[in-house]
Amino acid sequence: MTNPSAGIYIHIPFCAKKCLYCDFYSITDMSRQDAFLEALFREIAATKSILTFDSLYIGGGTPSILPAHKIGQIIDQIYEQFNLDVLAEITLEVNPGTVTLESLKAYRERGITRLNIGVQSFQESDLQWLGRIHSVNDAKDAILWARAAGFDQIGMDMIYGIPGQSRRAWIADLHHAISFDPEHISCYMLTCEPDTPLDRMRLHQVFETMADGDVCDLFETTATELSEHGYPLYEISNFARKDNSSDANRSRHNQKYWTDAPYLGFGPAAHSYLAPVRYSNHRDIATYMADLNSGMLPVVEKETLSIEQQLMETVFLGLRTIEGISIRRFEEKSAKPFIILFQDILTDPELKKLIIQTPEYCSLTFQGMMVLDSIAGMFVDRI
Ligand code: SF4
Repeated sequence: MTNPSAGIYIHIPFCAKKCLYCDFYSITDMSRQDAFLEALFREIAATKSILTFDSLYIGGGTPSILPAHKIGQIIDQIYEQFNLDVLAEITLEVNPGTVTLESLKAYRERGITRLNIGVQSFQESDLQWLGRIHSVNDAKDAILWARAAGFDQIGMDMIYGIPGQSRRAWIADLHHAISFDPEHISCYMLTCEPDTPLDRMRLHQVFETMADGDVCDLFETTATELSEHGYPLYEISNFARKDNSSDANRSRHNQKYWTDAPYLGFGPAAHSYLAPVRYSNHRDIATYMADLNSGMLPVVEKETLSIEQQLMETVFLGLRTIEGISIRRFEEKSAKPFIILFQDILTDPELKKLIIQTPEYCSLTFQGMMVLDSIAGMFVDRI
Protein backbone atom coordinates (compact mmCIF):
# COMPACT_ATOMS: atom_id res chain seq x y z
CA MET A 1 0.00 0.00 0.00
CA THR A 2 3.06 2.24 0.02
CA ASN A 3 2.62 5.19 -2.29
CA PRO A 4 5.51 7.60 -2.52
CA SER A 5 3.70 10.29 -4.55
CA ALA A 6 1.98 13.13 -2.75
CA GLY A 7 -1.68 14.24 -2.74
CA ILE A 8 -3.52 17.56 -2.78
CA TYR A 9 -6.77 18.27 -0.92
CA ILE A 10 -9.00 21.29 -1.63
CA HIS A 11 -11.72 22.18 0.87
CA ILE A 12 -14.78 23.90 -0.63
CA PRO A 13 -16.58 25.35 2.42
CA PHE A 14 -20.15 25.71 1.10
CA CYS A 15 -23.26 23.61 1.67
CA ALA A 16 -26.88 24.28 0.72
CA LYS A 17 -27.89 23.33 4.28
CA LYS A 18 -26.03 21.83 7.26
CA CYS A 19 -26.73 18.16 7.96
CA LEU A 20 -27.48 17.47 11.62
CA TYR A 21 -24.48 15.21 12.24
CA CYS A 22 -21.79 17.09 10.33
CA ASP A 23 -18.77 18.76 11.90
CA PHE A 24 -16.91 19.50 8.68
CA TYR A 25 -16.43 23.22 8.20
CA SER A 26 -18.91 24.79 5.80
CA ILE A 27 -21.21 27.80 5.53
CA THR A 28 -24.50 28.27 3.70
CA ASP A 29 -23.88 31.86 2.54
CA MET A 30 -23.27 31.37 -1.18
CA SER A 31 -22.62 35.09 -1.76
CA ARG A 32 -19.04 34.53 -0.58
CA GLN A 33 -18.15 32.01 -3.27
CA ASP A 34 -16.26 34.36 -5.60
CA ALA A 35 -14.28 36.00 -2.79
CA PHE A 36 -13.42 32.55 -1.43
CA LEU A 37 -12.22 31.31 -4.82
CA GLU A 38 -10.04 34.41 -5.21
CA ALA A 39 -8.47 33.67 -1.81
CA LEU A 40 -8.06 29.97 -2.67
CA PHE A 41 -6.24 30.86 -5.91
CA ARG A 42 -3.95 33.16 -3.91
CA GLU A 43 -3.20 30.38 -1.44
CA ILE A 44 -2.35 27.92 -4.22
CA ALA A 45 -0.19 30.49 -6.03
CA ALA A 46 1.73 31.27 -2.83
CA THR A 47 2.62 27.61 -2.19
CA LYS A 48 5.66 25.98 -3.77
CA SER A 49 6.54 22.31 -3.84
CA ILE A 50 9.00 20.11 -5.67
CA LEU A 51 6.97 16.97 -4.94
CA THR A 52 5.21 14.89 -7.57
CA PHE A 53 1.47 14.57 -6.98
CA ASP A 54 -0.73 11.77 -8.26
CA SER A 55 -4.03 12.64 -6.56
CA LEU A 56 -6.21 15.70 -6.19
CA TYR A 57 -9.27 15.47 -3.96
CA ILE A 58 -11.86 18.25 -4.04
CA GLY A 59 -13.95 17.82 -0.90
CA GLY A 60 -15.90 19.90 1.56
CA GLY A 61 -18.49 21.08 2.25
CA THR A 62 -20.23 20.45 -1.04
CA PRO A 63 -17.86 21.05 -3.95
CA SER A 64 -20.57 20.00 -6.43
CA ILE A 65 -22.32 23.23 -5.50
CA LEU A 66 -19.73 24.97 -7.69
CA PRO A 67 -20.31 24.97 -11.45
CA ALA A 68 -17.97 22.91 -13.61
CA HIS A 69 -16.08 25.90 -15.01
CA LYS A 70 -15.07 26.93 -11.46
CA ILE A 71 -13.97 23.40 -10.60
CA GLY A 72 -12.08 23.43 -13.92
CA GLN A 73 -10.29 26.66 -12.95
CA ILE A 74 -9.14 25.04 -9.69
CA ILE A 75 -7.81 21.96 -11.53
CA ASP A 76 -6.05 24.16 -14.10
CA GLN A 77 -4.37 26.21 -11.41
CA ILE A 78 -3.18 23.10 -9.59
CA TYR A 79 -1.65 21.84 -12.85
CA GLU A 80 0.03 25.22 -13.40
CA GLN A 81 1.48 25.42 -9.92
CA PHE A 82 2.40 21.80 -9.11
CA ASN A 83 3.77 18.71 -10.74
CA LEU A 84 0.44 16.85 -10.92
CA ASP A 85 0.65 13.64 -12.94
CA VAL A 86 -1.40 13.64 -16.18
CA LEU A 87 -2.90 10.35 -15.01
CA ALA A 88 -3.69 11.70 -11.54
CA GLU A 89 -6.82 10.55 -9.71
CA ILE A 90 -8.97 13.71 -9.49
CA THR A 91 -11.95 13.18 -7.18
CA LEU A 92 -14.96 15.41 -6.67
CA GLU A 93 -17.30 14.93 -3.72
CA VAL A 94 -20.90 15.11 -4.91
CA ASN A 95 -24.10 15.77 -3.01
CA PRO A 96 -26.93 14.14 -5.01
CA GLY A 97 -29.14 17.17 -4.38
CA THR A 98 -26.86 19.45 -6.39
CA VAL A 99 -26.20 17.69 -9.71
CA THR A 100 -27.77 16.96 -13.11
CA LEU A 101 -26.63 14.73 -15.95
CA GLU A 102 -25.34 17.86 -17.70
CA SER A 103 -23.35 19.12 -14.71
CA LEU A 104 -21.73 15.68 -14.21
CA LYS A 105 -20.79 15.57 -17.90
CA ALA A 106 -19.27 19.03 -17.55
CA TYR A 107 -17.19 17.96 -14.49
CA ARG A 108 -15.92 14.98 -16.50
CA GLU A 109 -14.96 17.26 -19.39
CA ARG A 110 -13.11 19.58 -16.99
CA GLY A 111 -10.87 16.76 -15.77
CA ILE A 112 -12.62 15.06 -12.82
CA THR A 113 -11.83 11.32 -13.03
CA ARG A 114 -13.62 10.01 -9.94
CA LEU A 115 -16.83 10.90 -8.11
CA ASN A 116 -17.57 10.29 -4.48
CA ILE A 117 -21.34 10.47 -4.09
CA GLY A 118 -22.84 11.14 -0.65
CA VAL A 119 -25.77 8.70 -0.82
CA GLN A 120 -25.77 7.95 2.96
CA SER A 121 -28.95 5.82 2.91
CA PHE A 122 -31.58 4.31 0.61
CA GLN A 123 -34.31 4.87 3.24
CA GLU A 124 -36.18 8.15 2.83
CA SER A 125 -36.83 8.40 6.59
CA ASP A 126 -33.08 8.09 7.35
CA LEU A 127 -32.21 10.87 4.90
CA GLN A 128 -34.77 13.14 6.52
CA TRP A 129 -33.58 12.27 10.01
CA LEU A 130 -29.97 13.06 9.04
CA GLY A 131 -31.05 16.41 7.57
CA ARG A 132 -29.86 15.63 4.04
CA ILE A 133 -31.12 17.89 1.23
CA HIS A 134 -31.72 15.03 -1.22
CA SER A 135 -34.15 12.14 -1.63
CA VAL A 136 -33.43 8.48 -2.37
CA ASN A 137 -34.45 9.10 -5.99
CA ASP A 138 -32.00 12.02 -6.25
CA ALA A 139 -29.24 9.67 -5.10
CA LYS A 140 -30.24 6.96 -7.57
CA ASP A 141 -30.36 9.51 -10.40
CA ALA A 142 -26.94 10.89 -9.46
CA ILE A 143 -25.38 7.41 -9.62
CA LEU A 144 -26.98 6.57 -12.97
CA TRP A 145 -26.09 10.00 -14.40
CA ALA A 146 -22.51 9.58 -13.19
CA ARG A 147 -22.17 6.41 -15.29
CA ALA A 148 -23.93 8.04 -18.24
CA ALA A 149 -21.52 10.98 -17.96
CA GLY A 150 -18.61 8.57 -18.47
CA PHE A 151 -17.27 8.08 -14.94
CA ASP A 152 -15.63 4.68 -14.49
CA GLN A 153 -14.62 5.42 -10.90
CA ILE A 154 -17.62 5.97 -8.65
CA GLY A 155 -17.57 5.85 -4.87
CA MET A 156 -20.63 5.92 -2.63
CA ASP A 157 -20.68 7.11 1.00
CA MET A 158 -23.10 5.34 3.32
CA ILE A 159 -23.90 5.80 7.03
CA TYR A 160 -24.82 3.10 9.54
CA GLY A 161 -25.71 3.15 13.22
CA ILE A 162 -28.70 5.48 12.73
CA PRO A 163 -30.98 5.15 15.79
CA GLY A 164 -33.65 2.56 15.16
CA GLN A 165 -31.85 1.12 12.12
CA SER A 166 -32.24 -2.65 12.08
CA ARG A 167 -29.61 -5.07 10.81
CA ARG A 168 -32.07 -6.08 8.12
CA ALA A 169 -32.59 -2.50 6.94
CA TRP A 170 -28.83 -1.90 6.82
CA ILE A 171 -28.24 -5.08 4.81
CA ALA A 172 -30.96 -3.93 2.39
CA ASP A 173 -29.11 -0.59 2.08
CA LEU A 174 -25.83 -2.36 1.37
CA HIS A 175 -27.46 -4.57 -1.26
CA HIS A 176 -29.01 -1.50 -2.82
CA ALA A 177 -25.59 0.16 -3.00
CA ILE A 178 -23.99 -2.97 -4.49
CA SER A 179 -26.74 -3.20 -7.13
CA PHE A 180 -25.31 -0.05 -8.77
CA ASP A 181 -21.92 -1.79 -9.09
CA PRO A 182 -19.84 1.17 -7.82
CA GLU A 183 -16.06 0.80 -7.73
CA HIS A 184 -15.90 1.93 -4.11
CA ILE A 185 -18.15 2.04 -1.04
CA SER A 186 -17.38 3.90 2.19
CA CYS A 187 -19.48 3.03 5.24
CA TYR A 188 -19.19 5.44 8.14
CA MET A 189 -20.51 4.81 11.60
CA LEU A 190 -22.78 7.66 12.73
CA THR A 191 -21.09 9.52 15.57
CA CYS A 192 -22.36 12.44 17.65
CA GLU A 193 -19.56 14.96 17.16
CA PRO A 194 -19.39 17.69 19.83
CA ASP A 195 -21.28 20.91 19.05
CA THR A 196 -23.35 19.44 16.24
CA PRO A 197 -27.18 19.68 16.32
CA LEU A 198 -27.21 15.88 16.55
CA ASP A 199 -25.13 15.95 19.70
CA ARG A 200 -27.42 18.56 21.25
CA MET A 201 -30.41 16.36 20.41
CA ARG A 202 -28.66 13.44 22.11
CA LEU A 203 -27.97 15.55 25.20
CA HIS A 204 -31.66 16.54 25.31
CA GLN A 205 -32.58 12.86 24.96
CA VAL A 206 -34.46 13.45 21.72
CA PHE A 207 -33.18 10.02 20.67
CA GLU A 208 -31.11 7.22 22.08
CA THR A 209 -27.83 6.32 20.45
CA MET A 210 -27.43 2.75 19.27
CA ALA A 211 -25.84 0.43 21.82
CA ASP A 212 -22.12 -0.22 21.22
CA GLY A 213 -22.72 -3.95 20.77
CA ASP A 214 -25.32 -3.30 18.05
CA VAL A 215 -23.00 -0.89 16.22
CA CYS A 216 -20.19 -3.48 16.36
CA ASP A 217 -22.62 -6.03 14.96
CA LEU A 218 -23.42 -3.67 12.06
CA PHE A 219 -19.70 -3.17 11.40
CA GLU A 220 -19.15 -6.92 11.22
CA THR A 221 -22.23 -7.29 9.01
CA THR A 222 -20.89 -4.57 6.70
CA ALA A 223 -17.45 -6.14 6.38
CA THR A 224 -18.89 -9.61 5.76
CA GLU A 225 -21.65 -8.59 3.33
CA LEU A 226 -19.43 -6.35 1.24
CA SER A 227 -16.60 -8.87 1.16
CA GLU A 228 -18.99 -11.61 0.01
CA HIS A 229 -20.13 -9.33 -2.81
CA GLY A 230 -16.60 -8.57 -4.04
CA TYR A 231 -15.85 -5.47 -1.95
CA PRO A 232 -13.21 -6.43 0.62
CA LEU A 233 -12.49 -3.99 3.40
CA TYR A 234 -9.14 -2.21 3.00
CA GLU A 235 -9.60 0.39 5.75
CA ILE A 236 -12.02 0.35 8.66
CA SER A 237 -14.59 2.43 6.71
CA ASN A 238 -13.56 1.72 3.12
CA PHE A 239 -14.32 -1.08 0.67
CA ALA A 240 -13.11 -1.31 -2.93
CA ARG A 241 -14.47 -3.57 -5.65
CA LYS A 242 -11.88 -6.17 -6.55
CA ASP A 243 -11.54 -6.46 -10.34
CA ASN A 244 -9.25 -9.31 -11.49
CA SER A 245 -7.59 -9.39 -8.05
CA SER A 246 -6.52 -5.76 -8.50
CA ASP A 247 -6.63 -3.08 -5.79
CA ALA A 248 -6.94 -0.31 -8.40
CA ASN A 249 -10.38 0.74 -7.14
CA ARG A 250 -9.04 1.81 -3.76
CA SER A 251 -9.01 5.58 -3.22
CA ARG A 252 -5.48 6.58 -4.12
CA HIS A 253 -5.87 9.86 -2.30
CA ASN A 254 -7.23 8.53 0.99
CA GLN A 255 -4.50 5.90 1.20
CA LYS A 256 -1.99 8.73 1.60
CA TYR A 257 -3.49 9.65 4.95
CA TRP A 258 -2.90 6.13 6.30
CA THR A 259 0.59 5.54 4.92
CA ASP A 260 2.57 8.59 6.01
CA ALA A 261 2.61 9.99 2.45
CA PRO A 262 2.90 13.77 2.07
CA TYR A 263 -0.15 15.88 1.23
CA LEU A 264 -0.97 19.56 0.84
CA GLY A 265 -4.34 20.97 1.86
CA PHE A 266 -5.89 24.22 0.62
CA GLY A 267 -8.98 26.05 1.85
CA PRO A 268 -10.42 26.71 5.31
CA ALA A 269 -9.73 23.94 7.88
CA ALA A 270 -7.50 22.04 5.43
CA HIS A 271 -4.52 20.12 6.84
CA SER A 272 -1.14 19.49 5.27
CA TYR A 273 1.54 16.97 6.17
CA LEU A 274 5.14 17.03 5.04
CA ALA A 275 6.85 14.66 7.49
CA PRO A 276 7.61 15.48 10.20
CA VAL A 277 5.66 18.75 9.96
CA ARG A 278 1.86 18.98 10.10
CA TYR A 279 -0.01 22.24 9.71
CA SER A 280 -3.58 23.38 9.41
CA ASN A 281 -5.48 26.38 8.08
CA HIS A 282 -7.92 28.67 9.87
CA ARG A 283 -11.36 27.10 10.01
CA ASP A 284 -13.28 30.35 9.79
CA ILE A 285 -13.65 31.52 6.18
CA ALA A 286 -13.43 35.23 7.12
CA THR A 287 -10.08 34.75 8.90
CA TYR A 288 -8.87 32.48 6.11
CA MET A 289 -9.66 35.13 3.48
CA ALA A 290 -8.36 38.04 5.59
CA ASP A 291 -4.95 36.37 5.96
CA LEU A 292 -4.64 35.71 2.25
CA ASN A 293 -5.87 39.19 1.34
CA SER A 294 -3.12 40.70 3.47
CA GLY A 295 -0.41 38.57 1.85
CA MET A 296 -0.12 35.86 4.53
CA LEU A 297 -0.67 32.13 4.36
CA PRO A 298 -3.77 31.21 6.44
CA VAL A 299 -1.93 28.75 8.68
CA VAL A 300 -3.24 28.62 12.26
CA GLU A 301 -1.22 25.74 13.66
CA LYS A 302 2.11 24.18 12.79
CA GLU A 303 3.59 21.24 14.62
CA THR A 304 6.79 19.25 14.16
CA LEU A 305 6.03 15.69 15.21
CA SER A 306 8.52 14.05 17.53
CA ILE A 307 9.73 10.52 16.72
CA GLU A 308 7.30 9.18 19.36
CA GLN A 309 4.39 11.06 17.80
CA GLN A 310 5.32 9.74 14.35
CA LEU A 311 5.45 6.17 15.70
CA MET A 312 2.05 6.64 17.35
CA GLU A 313 0.60 7.83 14.03
CA THR A 314 2.12 4.83 12.24
CA VAL A 315 0.38 2.55 14.77
CA PHE A 316 -2.99 4.34 14.84
CA LEU A 317 -3.28 4.78 11.09
CA GLY A 318 -1.73 1.40 10.23
CA LEU A 319 -4.16 -0.54 12.42
CA ARG A 320 -7.09 1.05 10.56
CA THR A 321 -5.98 -0.68 7.35
CA ILE A 322 -6.28 -4.31 6.31
CA GLU A 323 -2.53 -4.52 5.68
CA GLY A 324 -1.83 -3.14 9.14
CA ILE A 325 1.29 -1.48 10.51
CA SER A 326 4.27 -1.83 8.19
CA ILE A 327 6.93 -3.22 10.53
CA ARG A 328 9.69 -2.03 8.19
CA ARG A 329 8.31 1.52 8.20
CA PHE A 330 7.92 1.43 11.97
CA GLU A 331 11.48 0.19 12.50
CA GLU A 332 12.93 2.89 10.23
CA LYS A 333 12.00 5.32 13.03
CA SER A 334 12.01 3.20 16.16
CA ALA A 335 15.11 2.58 18.27
CA LYS A 336 13.76 -0.86 19.27
CA PRO A 337 12.63 -3.76 17.03
CA PHE A 338 8.83 -4.03 16.71
CA ILE A 339 8.53 -7.49 18.26
CA ILE A 340 10.66 -6.56 21.26
CA LEU A 341 8.77 -3.34 21.93
CA PHE A 342 5.34 -5.00 21.73
CA GLN A 343 6.30 -8.50 22.88
CA ASP A 344 3.71 -8.75 25.65
CA ILE A 345 0.86 -7.66 23.33
CA LEU A 346 1.92 -9.96 20.50
CA THR A 347 2.22 -13.00 22.76
CA ASP A 348 -0.90 -12.38 24.88
CA PRO A 349 -3.19 -15.41 24.30
CA GLU A 350 -6.28 -13.21 24.90
CA LEU A 351 -5.31 -10.95 22.00
CA LYS A 352 -4.47 -13.75 19.58
CA LYS A 353 -7.90 -13.68 17.91
CA LEU A 354 -7.73 -9.91 17.47
CA ILE A 355 -4.20 -9.36 16.13
CA ILE A 356 -2.45 -10.92 13.13
CA GLN A 357 1.31 -10.67 12.86
CA THR A 358 3.48 -11.59 9.87
CA PRO A 359 7.17 -10.75 9.39
CA GLU A 360 6.16 -7.61 7.42
CA TYR A 361 2.90 -6.42 8.96
CA CYS A 362 0.88 -6.34 12.16
CA SER A 363 -2.87 -6.00 11.57
CA LEU A 364 -6.25 -6.51 13.22
CA THR A 365 -8.92 -9.09 12.50
CA PHE A 366 -12.50 -7.79 11.99
CA GLN A 367 -13.08 -8.51 15.67
CA GLY A 368 -9.94 -6.55 16.51
CA MET A 369 -11.12 -3.62 14.39
CA MET A 370 -14.28 -3.43 16.52
CA VAL A 371 -12.06 -2.51 19.47
CA LEU A 372 -9.51 -0.57 17.42
CA ASP A 373 -9.12 2.30 19.88
CA SER A 374 -8.35 0.13 22.88
CA ILE A 375 -5.84 -2.06 20.99
CA ALA A 376 -4.15 0.97 19.43
CA GLY A 377 -4.03 2.46 22.95
CA MET A 378 -2.10 -0.60 24.22
CA PHE A 379 0.51 -0.19 21.46
CA VAL A 380 0.79 3.54 22.03
CA ASP A 381 1.35 3.06 25.79
CA ARG A 382 4.53 1.11 25.00
CA ILE A 383 6.07 3.67 22.62
S1 SF4 B 1 -23.49 18.09 2.79
FE1 SF4 B 1 -21.66 17.03 3.64
S2 SF4 B 1 -20.29 18.67 4.32
FE2 SF4 B 1 -22.32 19.61 3.97
S3 SF4 B 1 -23.29 19.60 5.97
FE3 SF4 B 1 -23.94 17.70 4.94
S4 SF4 B 1 -22.42 16.15 5.55
FE4 SF4 B 1 -21.56 18.16 6.06
